[in-house]
Amino acid sequence: MQEEDINASGGLPTTRFISRQEVVTVNVRRPRGTNDILPEDARKWQLVEAKIRDICHRFGYQEIRTPIFEHTELFERGIGEATDIVEKEMYTFTDRGDRSITLRPEGTACVVRAFIENKLYAQSLPSKLYYVGPMFRYEKPQAGRYRQFSQFGVEAIGSMDPFLDVEMIILPIELYKACGLSDFQVHINSLGCPECRPKYREVLQQHLGEKFDQFCENCQSRISRNPLRVLDCKNPKCQALVAEIPLITNYLCTECSDHFQTVIKYLDLLEIDYELNPKLVRGFDYYTKTVFEITVSSLGAQNAIGGGGRYDGLVEEIGGKPMPAVGYAVGVDRLLLALEQQQIDIFPEQHADVYVAHFGGDTKTAAVDLVVKLRASGLWVETDYMDRSLKAQMKSADKFKSRWVVIVGEEELKTGTVKVRRMDTGTEADVALDQIVEYLSVKKEG
Ligand code: AMP
Repeated sequence: MQEEDINASGGLPTTRFISRQEVVTVNVRRPRGTNDILPEDARKWQLVEAKIRDICHRFGYQEIRTPIFEHTELFERGIGEATDIVEKEMYTFTDRGDRSITLRPEGTACVVRAFIENKLYAQSLPSKLYYVGPMFRYEKPQAGRYRQFSQFGVEAIGSMDPFLDVEMIILPIELYKACGLSDFQVHINSLGCPECRPKYREVLQQHLGEKFDQFCENCQSRISRNPLRVLDCKNPKCQALVAEIPLITNYLCTECSDHFQTVIKYLDLLEIDYELNPKLVRGFDYYTKTVFEITVSSLGAQNAIGGGGRYDGLVEEIGGKPMPAVGYAVGVDRLLLALEQQQIDIFPEQHADVYVAHFGGDTKTAAVDLVVKLRASGLWVETDYMDRSLKAQMKSADKFKSRWVVIVGEEELKTGTVKVRRMDTGTEADVALDQIVEYLSVKKEG
């Protein structure tokens, strides 16, 4: 037996299953931090995804699809154990085979794992790959920050070329622009490498340690374990405390400094606006050398619509041969949010091609035949499934913004000729039933 109940929090039904032995309340609301993408929005997603695929094709990136869950160790090793993501945000569980499994919180470690496991390094390098799909992080949900969200990412594995760092900036810029977004800022920094960063880390640690007591609890623990993460703290008090810190740019080794200068030279050459931000750090430990982030100020607290950088140590960290790499990830939810906020509408209105109206009985049978044939010819065809009146069917045709309406009535069946009405002009034509598919297909082309 089953009974419906109204959930006080949002009017959503909570289903109570009642059996002789027990009464169980089942929560049927979607989990916190997740979204239903309804048809009107799904259309927008599809269009953005089509742009993503088009741009990746032009830049020579090929799609890779990896599992949504991986062994937990991949992220512990890849992202770094002292990061917020690994410490607090992973959806980790033990499967029935007693393995620790994690829903992927990001795509790079997964792509690198697949690159090694499938020996893509044996093919021509760099391997230029992209992915689009859901990621999972147990974060505090708010506008633009969800527990399931979608990322589009690009990874170029196997080359040290600074042009690839720049490609990782111009590729998403191309996407943002193709979506109609113009008001965004590029922030860029270099985080150095295992040669020069430890020295900076030490200096920073010492500097932050002098004001240890004034930092938030989180930062106090970061100072000893991962001091660069302190620069990313959103607490205004901590931000003020790091206003006057030694900057990493003054500690880069020659190789990192030269690499960064070349990246900057290319950005200047290509007239890309950017802001040098020596305090920019990222949420993953794997980054080396160049890091970047693109923000949209109108988005408020969650203003990053994408970010990335070089990760020259990750392939080796995950078990491959040492190999440089660079990548970028776009937050697709946030990109769509930015478009909505800025009232940018790149999404064409949807128009059905034909609405086939009928009056039931034999006219319905003829309509069924016509609908199926018209659809097979490639047209978007709607009809009535609810036994509605002709007036209501015309309203439906309007709702679908249908270009034509075909009315199949008793009279039309007798004469073998139907009326085809063009909805924008109101003009009508009499067309033989057996000619209608050809007639409308030609009209659509023309
Ligand atoms: P990250 O993988 O943390 O470098 O993030 C790359 C981009 O993904 C960010 O700039 C955001 O646009 C997006 N993103 C990250 N976390 C979330 C989240 N919890 N909800 C929505 N978008 C996110």
